[in-house]
Amino acid sequence: MIIYSDWYLKLIGMEGTTLFGIIIILKKYKNNPNVYLLNHEKIHVSQWLETLFVGFLVLYILNFLWNLLRYKNFYEAYKFIIFEREAYKEMYNLNYIEKRFWCNWIKY
Ligand SMILES: [Zn+2]
Repeated sequence: MIIYSDWYLKLIGMEGTTLFGIIIILKKYKNNPNVYLLNHEKIHVSQWLETLFVGFLVLYILNFLWNLLRYKNFYEAYKFIIFEREAYKEMYNLNYIEKRFWCNWIKY
């Protein structure tokens, strides 16, 4: 499921995000989809499902906090979250979702 909304994304400074398996993307991409951004968010949907939603939230936050202690930088802390590492690495591989192994984020 995809929702197009600007206010929330502008608030957090992102072009797209996935909350509880629902993709939220900037309105400018409604008629002009960014396939890589969409692929990135679809990878997050798989991760949300695999971790039964709560697991994603808990691991995402703990991993972010751990990274913040480690790198002392918000952007680095975000980029090195295991879920983000998988999504950023594979977002340009448009066949990834179909070929991806279950819980592949564990590798990161
Ligand atoms: Zn992401």
